[in-house]
Amino acid sequence: MKKALITGITGQDGSYLAEFLLGKGYKVYGLTRRTSTVNNERIAHIQDRVTLVQGDLLDQSSLSSALMEAAPDEVYNLAAQSFVKTSWNQPVLTGEFTALGVTRMLEAIRVVNPKIKFYQASSSEMFGKVTETPQKETTRFHPRSPYGVAKVYGHYITVNYRESFGIFACSGILFNHESPRRGLEFVTRKISNAVARIYLGKQKKIELGDLRPKRDWGFAGDYVEAIWLMLQHEKADDYVIATGRNHSVEEFVKLAFNVAGISNWKDYVLANKPEHMRPAEVDFLIGDYSKAKKVLGWKPKTSFEQLVEMIVKKDIEMERGSK
Ligand code: NDP
Ligand code: GDP
Repeated sequence: MKKALITGITGQDGSYLAEFLLGKGYKVYGLTRRTSTVNNERIAHIQDRVTLVQGDLLDQSSLSSALMEAAPDEVYNLAAQSFVKTSWNQPVLTGEFTALGVTRMLEAIRVVNPKIKFYQASSSEMFGKVTETPQKETTRFHPRSPYGVAKVYGHYITVNYRESFGIFACSGILFNHESPRRGLEFVTRKISNAVARIYLGKQKKIELGDLRPKRDWGFAGDYVEAIWLMLQHEKADDYVIATGRNHSVEEFVKLAFNVAGISNWKDYVLANKPEHMRPAEVDFLIGDYSKAKKVLGWKPKTSFEQLVEMIVKKDIEMERGSK
Protein backbone atom coordinates (compact mmCIF):
# COMPACT_ATOMS: atom_id res chain seq x y z
CA MET A 1 0.00 0.00 0.00
CA LYS A 2 1.39 3.42 -1.00
CA LYS A 3 1.64 6.09 1.69
CA ALA A 4 1.19 9.84 1.19
CA LEU A 5 1.68 12.80 3.51
CA ILE A 6 -0.41 15.88 2.72
CA THR A 7 0.47 19.25 4.25
CA GLY A 8 -2.57 21.54 4.30
CA ILE A 9 -4.97 18.59 4.62
CA THR A 10 -7.48 20.81 6.47
CA GLY A 11 -7.65 23.16 3.47
CA GLN A 12 -9.79 22.98 0.33
CA ASP A 13 -7.34 21.05 -1.86
CA GLY A 14 -6.05 18.89 0.99
CA SER A 15 -9.53 17.56 1.67
CA TYR A 16 -10.19 16.70 -2.00
CA LEU A 17 -6.74 15.16 -2.44
CA ALA A 18 -7.14 13.05 0.71
CA GLU A 19 -10.47 11.70 -0.61
CA PHE A 20 -8.90 11.02 -4.00
CA LEU A 21 -5.89 9.17 -2.58
CA LEU A 22 -8.07 7.08 -0.25
CA GLY A 23 -10.03 6.10 -3.35
CA LYS A 24 -6.75 4.96 -4.94
CA GLY A 25 -6.03 2.75 -1.91
CA TYR A 26 -3.38 4.94 -0.28
CA LYS A 27 -2.70 5.19 3.41
CA VAL A 28 -3.10 8.94 3.93
CA TYR A 29 -1.32 11.05 6.54
CA GLY A 30 -2.07 14.72 7.06
CA LEU A 31 0.14 17.32 8.66
CA THR A 32 -1.83 19.69 10.89
CA ARG A 33 -0.67 22.55 13.05
CA ARG A 34 -1.74 22.99 16.63
CA THR A 35 -4.78 25.27 17.06
CA SER A 36 -6.80 26.13 20.18
CA THR A 37 -10.00 25.03 18.48
CA VAL A 38 -10.19 22.06 16.16
CA ASN A 39 -10.43 23.07 12.53
CA ASN A 40 -11.15 19.81 10.73
CA GLU A 41 -14.57 20.50 9.14
CA ARG A 42 -13.40 19.83 5.59
CA ILE A 43 -12.08 16.37 6.49
CA ALA A 44 -14.66 15.45 9.17
CA HIS A 45 -16.25 12.87 6.82
CA ILE A 46 -12.94 11.01 6.29
CA GLN A 47 -11.23 11.66 9.59
CA ASP A 48 -11.38 8.06 10.74
CA ARG A 49 -9.58 7.02 7.51
CA VAL A 50 -6.66 9.48 7.67
CA THR A 51 -3.87 9.75 10.23
CA LEU A 52 -3.08 13.25 11.43
CA VAL A 53 0.45 14.12 12.51
CA GLN A 54 1.28 17.39 14.18
CA GLY A 55 3.72 19.74 12.50
CA ASP A 56 4.17 23.25 11.17
CA LEU A 57 5.93 24.57 8.07
CA LEU A 58 7.69 27.04 10.39
CA ASP A 59 9.27 24.26 12.44
CA GLN A 60 12.01 22.24 10.74
CA SER A 61 12.24 19.39 13.25
CA SER A 62 8.46 18.86 13.22
CA LEU A 63 8.67 18.20 9.46
CA SER A 64 11.47 15.67 9.85
CA SER A 65 9.54 13.95 12.65
CA ALA A 66 6.40 13.83 10.50
CA LEU A 67 8.37 12.19 7.67
CA MET A 68 9.88 9.65 10.04
CA GLU A 69 6.47 8.84 11.54
CA ALA A 70 4.58 8.56 8.25
CA ALA A 71 7.43 7.19 6.11
CA PRO A 72 5.55 8.34 2.98
CA ASP A 73 6.28 7.49 -0.64
CA GLU A 74 4.86 10.85 -1.69
CA VAL A 75 4.60 14.28 -0.04
CA TYR A 76 2.06 16.81 -1.30
CA ASN A 77 2.96 20.27 -0.02
CA LEU A 78 -0.34 22.15 -0.14
CA ALA A 79 0.07 24.16 3.07
CA ALA A 80 0.56 27.90 2.66
CA GLN A 81 -0.70 31.31 3.62
CA SER A 82 -2.90 31.14 0.55
CA PHE A 83 -4.89 34.39 0.48
CA VAL A 84 -3.37 37.04 -1.79
CA LYS A 85 -4.93 40.06 -0.02
CA THR A 86 -3.59 39.00 3.39
CA SER A 87 -0.10 38.75 1.95
CA TRP A 88 0.18 42.57 1.94
CA ASN A 89 -0.74 42.71 5.64
CA GLN A 90 1.51 39.79 6.60
CA PRO A 91 4.28 39.77 3.98
CA VAL A 92 6.97 38.31 6.22
CA LEU A 93 4.76 35.52 7.55
CA THR A 94 3.62 34.78 3.99
CA GLY A 95 7.28 34.42 3.01
CA GLU A 96 7.97 32.14 5.98
CA PHE A 97 5.05 29.77 5.23
CA THR A 98 4.69 29.97 1.48
CA ALA A 99 8.35 30.38 0.44
CA LEU A 100 10.75 29.13 3.12
CA GLY A 101 8.27 26.45 4.24
CA VAL A 102 8.92 24.72 0.91
CA THR A 103 12.68 24.63 1.56
CA ARG A 104 12.09 23.29 5.06
CA MET A 105 10.04 20.41 3.66
CA LEU A 106 12.54 19.72 0.87
CA GLU A 107 15.38 19.74 3.41
CA ALA A 108 13.48 17.28 5.59
CA ILE A 109 13.04 15.02 2.54
CA ARG A 110 16.72 15.32 1.56
CA VAL A 111 17.86 14.34 5.06
CA VAL A 112 15.22 11.75 6.03
CA ASN A 113 14.66 10.00 2.67
CA PRO A 114 15.55 11.61 -0.68
CA LYS A 115 13.55 8.91 -2.51
CA ILE A 116 10.27 10.50 -1.38
CA LYS A 117 8.43 12.09 -4.32
CA PHE A 118 7.48 15.73 -3.75
CA TYR A 119 4.67 17.91 -5.10
CA GLN A 120 4.73 21.70 -4.68
CA ALA A 121 1.50 23.72 -4.97
CA SER A 122 2.59 26.54 -7.23
CA SER A 123 0.22 29.16 -8.56
CA SER A 124 -0.85 31.17 -11.61
CA GLU A 125 -0.30 34.22 -9.36
CA MET A 126 3.37 33.78 -10.32
CA PHE A 127 2.46 35.06 -13.81
CA GLY A 128 0.85 38.17 -12.28
CA LYS A 129 1.29 40.98 -14.79
CA VAL A 130 1.24 38.59 -17.69
CA THR A 131 3.82 38.76 -20.44
CA GLU A 132 2.15 36.18 -22.69
CA THR A 133 -1.38 34.85 -23.30
CA PRO A 134 -2.34 32.11 -22.61
CA GLN A 135 0.20 31.40 -19.87
CA LYS A 136 2.20 28.18 -20.07
CA GLU A 137 5.14 26.54 -18.25
CA THR A 138 7.70 28.70 -20.08
CA THR A 139 5.91 32.03 -19.59
CA ARG A 140 8.02 34.56 -17.67
CA PHE A 141 6.93 35.23 -14.07
CA HIS A 142 5.99 38.72 -12.89
CA PRO A 143 4.29 38.28 -9.50
CA ARG A 144 2.18 41.16 -8.20
CA SER A 145 1.82 40.37 -4.48
CA PRO A 146 3.98 39.10 -1.61
CA TYR A 147 2.03 35.84 -2.07
CA GLY A 148 2.99 35.63 -5.74
CA VAL A 149 6.62 36.43 -4.94
CA ALA A 150 6.69 33.72 -2.25
CA LYS A 151 5.22 31.19 -4.70
CA VAL A 152 7.93 32.00 -7.26
CA TYR A 153 10.51 31.18 -4.60
CA GLY A 154 8.67 27.92 -3.78
CA HIS A 155 8.61 27.01 -7.47
CA TYR A 156 12.30 27.62 -8.07
CA ILE A 157 13.47 25.89 -4.88
CA THR A 158 11.48 22.84 -6.02
CA VAL A 159 13.18 22.94 -9.42
CA ASN A 160 16.51 23.49 -7.67
CA TYR A 161 16.22 20.45 -5.36
CA ARG A 162 15.34 18.37 -8.41
CA GLU A 163 18.42 19.63 -10.25
CA SER A 164 20.77 19.68 -7.22
CA PHE A 165 19.89 16.43 -5.47
CA GLY A 166 17.89 14.46 -8.03
CA ILE A 167 14.80 14.55 -5.84
CA PHE A 168 11.62 13.64 -7.72
CA ALA A 169 10.09 17.09 -7.23
CA CYS A 170 7.22 18.50 -9.32
CA SER A 171 5.73 21.97 -9.35
CA GLY A 172 2.08 22.21 -10.36
CA ILE A 173 1.23 25.69 -11.60
CA LEU A 174 -2.46 25.63 -10.82
CA PHE A 175 -4.84 28.35 -11.93
CA ASN A 176 -7.65 29.36 -9.55
CA HIS A 177 -9.78 26.41 -8.53
CA GLU A 178 -12.88 26.57 -6.43
CA SER A 179 -15.48 24.38 -4.77
CA PRO A 180 -18.11 24.50 -2.04
CA ARG A 181 -15.13 24.03 0.33
CA ARG A 182 -13.28 27.16 -0.83
CA GLY A 183 -12.46 29.63 1.97
CA LEU A 184 -15.14 32.31 2.39
CA GLU A 185 -12.72 35.20 1.83
CA PHE A 186 -12.02 34.20 -1.80
CA VAL A 187 -14.22 36.03 -4.27
CA THR A 188 -16.09 32.96 -5.57
CA ARG A 189 -17.29 31.70 -2.18
CA LYS A 190 -17.82 35.25 -0.95
CA ILE A 191 -20.19 35.81 -3.87
CA SER A 192 -21.94 32.41 -3.73
CA ASN A 193 -22.48 32.69 0.01
CA ALA A 194 -23.84 36.24 -0.29
CA VAL A 195 -26.12 35.21 -3.17
CA ALA A 196 -27.48 32.36 -1.02
CA ARG A 197 -28.08 34.70 1.92
CA ILE A 198 -29.70 37.37 -0.27
CA TYR A 199 -31.89 34.71 -1.87
CA LEU A 200 -32.99 33.53 1.60
CA GLY A 201 -33.53 37.11 2.85
CA LYS A 202 -30.67 36.95 5.38
CA GLN A 203 -28.52 39.66 3.76
CA LYS A 204 -29.25 42.78 1.70
CA LYS A 205 -26.06 43.64 -0.20
CA ILE A 206 -22.60 42.38 -1.07
CA GLU A 207 -19.54 44.64 -1.05
CA LEU A 208 -16.80 43.79 -3.51
CA GLY A 209 -13.65 45.30 -4.99
CA ASP A 210 -12.73 45.38 -8.67
CA LEU A 211 -15.14 43.41 -10.88
CA ARG A 212 -12.97 43.61 -14.02
CA PRO A 213 -10.14 41.10 -13.33
CA LYS A 214 -10.42 37.83 -15.22
CA ARG A 215 -9.56 34.42 -13.85
CA ASP A 216 -9.34 30.92 -15.31
CA TRP A 217 -11.56 29.20 -12.75
CA GLY A 218 -11.69 25.40 -12.48
CA PHE A 219 -13.08 22.84 -10.02
CA ALA A 220 -10.75 21.73 -7.20
CA GLY A 221 -12.04 18.13 -7.44
CA ASP A 222 -10.75 17.93 -11.04
CA TYR A 223 -7.39 19.49 -10.21
CA VAL A 224 -6.32 17.04 -7.48
CA GLU A 225 -6.27 14.29 -10.09
CA ALA A 226 -3.69 16.29 -12.08
CA ILE A 227 -1.63 16.74 -8.91
CA TRP A 228 -1.55 12.99 -8.35
CA LEU A 229 -0.78 12.22 -12.02
CA MET A 230 2.34 14.41 -11.85
CA LEU A 231 3.87 12.16 -9.20
CA GLN A 232 2.94 8.98 -11.10
CA HIS A 233 4.77 10.01 -14.28
CA GLU A 234 8.24 8.52 -14.87
CA LYS A 235 9.92 11.95 -14.95
CA ALA A 236 9.53 14.83 -12.50
CA ASP A 237 8.46 18.02 -14.26
CA ASP A 238 6.35 21.17 -13.97
CA TYR A 239 2.84 21.55 -15.37
CA VAL A 240 0.22 24.24 -15.87
CA ILE A 241 -3.24 23.09 -14.75
CA ALA A 242 -6.13 25.24 -15.99
CA THR A 243 -9.32 25.14 -18.06
CA GLY A 244 -8.20 27.36 -20.94
CA ARG A 245 -11.20 29.68 -20.46
CA ASN A 246 -11.51 32.79 -18.36
CA HIS A 247 -14.23 35.04 -17.01
CA SER A 248 -14.40 38.36 -15.17
CA VAL A 249 -15.46 38.70 -11.56
CA GLU A 250 -18.53 40.52 -12.92
CA GLU A 251 -19.46 37.52 -15.07
CA PHE A 252 -19.15 35.30 -11.99
CA VAL A 253 -21.44 37.62 -9.99
CA LYS A 254 -24.03 37.76 -12.75
CA LEU A 255 -24.13 34.00 -13.23
CA ALA A 256 -24.23 33.32 -9.48
CA PHE A 257 -27.29 35.57 -9.04
CA ASN A 258 -28.79 33.96 -12.13
CA VAL A 259 -28.47 30.48 -10.57
CA ALA A 260 -30.59 31.78 -7.66
CA GLY A 261 -33.13 33.19 -10.13
CA ILE A 262 -32.19 36.85 -9.43
CA SER A 263 -31.72 38.89 -12.64
CA ASN A 264 -31.36 42.42 -11.19
CA TRP A 265 -27.97 41.62 -9.61
CA LYS A 266 -26.75 45.22 -9.83
CA ASP A 267 -29.29 46.20 -7.15
CA TYR A 268 -27.42 44.04 -4.63
CA VAL A 269 -23.77 44.71 -5.47
CA LEU A 270 -21.58 47.53 -4.17
CA ALA A 271 -18.36 47.38 -6.20
CA ASN A 272 -14.98 49.14 -6.01
CA LYS A 273 -14.99 49.21 -2.20
CA PRO A 274 -11.49 50.43 -1.24
CA GLU A 275 -11.08 47.77 1.47
CA HIS A 276 -11.45 45.03 -1.15
CA MET A 277 -9.13 46.60 -3.74
CA ARG A 278 -5.51 45.48 -3.99
CA PRO A 279 -2.33 47.60 -4.08
CA ALA A 280 -1.40 45.79 -7.32
CA GLU A 281 -3.91 43.74 -9.30
CA VAL A 282 -3.58 40.68 -11.50
CA ASP A 283 -5.88 41.61 -14.37
CA PHE A 284 -5.94 38.68 -16.73
CA LEU A 285 -5.12 35.00 -16.25
CA ILE A 286 -5.80 32.20 -18.69
CA GLY A 287 -3.87 28.93 -18.73
CA ASP A 288 -2.65 26.65 -21.48
CA TYR A 289 -2.84 23.10 -20.08
CA SER A 290 -1.76 21.35 -23.31
CA LYS A 291 1.42 19.92 -21.73
CA ALA A 292 -0.57 18.25 -18.93
CA LYS A 293 -3.04 16.95 -21.52
CA LYS A 294 -0.32 15.52 -23.74
CA VAL A 295 2.03 14.09 -21.09
CA LEU A 296 -0.35 13.19 -18.23
CA GLY A 297 -3.55 12.62 -20.20
CA TRP A 298 -5.34 15.13 -17.96
CA LYS A 299 -8.14 17.50 -18.86
CA PRO A 300 -10.72 19.44 -16.80
CA LYS A 301 -14.18 17.89 -16.49
CA THR A 302 -16.24 20.70 -14.94
CA SER A 303 -17.30 23.78 -16.92
CA PHE A 304 -17.46 27.30 -15.49
CA GLU A 305 -21.25 27.20 -15.61
CA GLN A 306 -21.38 23.85 -13.75
CA LEU A 307 -18.90 25.17 -11.18
CA VAL A 308 -20.90 28.32 -10.39
CA GLU A 309 -24.12 26.33 -10.17
CA MET A 310 -22.52 23.75 -7.86
CA ILE A 311 -21.16 26.35 -5.44
CA VAL A 312 -24.27 28.55 -5.31
CA LYS A 313 -26.65 25.59 -4.85
CA LYS A 314 -24.50 24.17 -2.06
CA ASP A 315 -24.39 27.54 -0.31
CA ILE A 316 -28.17 27.85 -0.53
CA GLU A 317 -28.50 24.36 0.97
CA MET A 318 -26.06 25.16 3.77
CA GLU A 319 -27.54 28.59 4.53
CA ARG A 320 -31.01 27.04 4.66
CA GLY A 321 -29.80 24.61 7.27
CA SER A 322 -28.02 27.21 9.41
CA LYS A 323 -29.66 29.83 11.63
P1 NDP B 1 -6.37 26.67 1.89
O1 NDP B 1 -6.13 28.06 2.38
O2 NDP B 1 -7.76 26.16 1.83
O3 NDP B 1 -5.51 25.66 2.80
C1 NDP B 1 -4.25 25.99 3.27
C2 NDP B 1 -3.77 24.92 4.22
O4 NDP B 1 -2.45 25.23 4.69
C3 NDP B 1 -4.63 24.74 5.47
O5 NDP B 1 -4.78 23.37 5.73
C4 NDP B 1 -3.78 25.40 6.54
O6 NDP B 1 -4.00 24.88 7.84
C5 NDP B 1 -2.40 25.00 6.08
N1 NDP B 1 -1.33 25.81 6.67
C6 NDP B 1 -1.17 27.14 6.59
N2 NDP B 1 -0.06 27.51 7.21
C7 NDP B 1 0.52 26.39 7.71
C8 NDP B 1 1.70 26.12 8.46
N3 NDP B 1 2.51 27.10 8.84
N4 NDP B 1 1.99 24.85 8.78
C9 NDP B 1 1.16 23.84 8.41
N5 NDP B 1 0.03 24.02 7.72
C10 NDP B 1 -0.30 25.29 7.36
O7 NDP B 1 -5.68 26.56 0.44
P2 NDP B 1 -6.11 25.69 -0.84
O8 NDP B 1 -6.48 24.33 -0.42
O9 NDP B 1 -7.06 26.50 -1.68
O10 NDP B 1 -4.75 25.67 -1.66
C11 NDP B 1 -3.79 24.65 -1.46
C12 NDP B 1 -2.44 25.12 -1.96
O11 NDP B 1 -2.51 25.42 -3.35
C13 NDP B 1 -1.92 26.40 -1.29
O12 NDP B 1 -0.52 26.31 -1.21
C14 NDP B 1 -2.31 27.49 -2.27
O13 NDP B 1 -1.49 28.63 -2.13
C15 NDP B 1 -2.10 26.76 -3.58
N6 NDP B 1 -2.89 27.24 -4.70
C16 NDP B 1 -4.24 27.31 -4.59
C17 NDP B 1 -5.00 27.74 -5.65
C18 NDP B 1 -6.49 27.79 -5.55
O14 NDP B 1 -7.11 28.38 -6.44
N7 NDP B 1 -7.12 27.19 -4.54
C19 NDP B 1 -4.38 28.13 -6.93
C20 NDP B 1 -2.94 27.91 -6.96
C21 NDP B 1 -2.24 27.49 -5.88
P3 NDP B 1 -5.10 25.52 8.87
O15 NDP B 1 -6.37 24.80 8.55
O16 NDP B 1 -4.51 25.19 10.18
O17 NDP B 1 -5.18 26.99 8.58
P1 GDP C 1 -6.80 35.32 -6.22
O1 GDP C 1 -6.89 35.27 -7.70
O2 GDP C 1 -5.97 34.22 -5.64
O3 GDP C 1 -6.42 36.64 -5.68
O4 GDP C 1 -8.28 34.93 -5.72
P2 GDP C 1 -9.47 35.81 -5.09
O5 GDP C 1 -10.70 34.97 -5.19
O6 GDP C 1 -9.12 36.33 -3.74
O7 GDP C 1 -9.60 37.07 -6.07
C1 GDP C 1 -9.91 36.92 -7.44
C2 GDP C 1 -10.13 38.31 -8.07
O8 GDP C 1 -11.34 38.88 -7.54
C3 GDP C 1 -9.00 39.32 -7.77
O9 GDP C 1 -8.70 40.01 -8.95
C4 GDP C 1 -9.64 40.25 -6.75
O10 GDP C 1 -9.12 41.59 -6.77
C5 GDP C 1 -11.09 40.25 -7.25
N1 GDP C 1 -12.05 40.71 -6.22
C6 GDP C 1 -12.96 41.70 -6.39
N2 GDP C 1 -13.65 41.88 -5.24
C7 GDP C 1 -13.16 40.99 -4.33
C8 GDP C 1 -13.47 40.72 -2.96
O11 GDP C 1 -14.34 41.33 -2.36
N3 GDP C 1 -12.77 39.70 -2.36
C9 GDP C 1 -11.81 39.00 -3.03
N4 GDP C 1 -11.16 38.01 -2.39
N5 GDP C 1 -11.47 39.28 -4.32
C10 GDP C 1 -12.14 40.24 -4.96
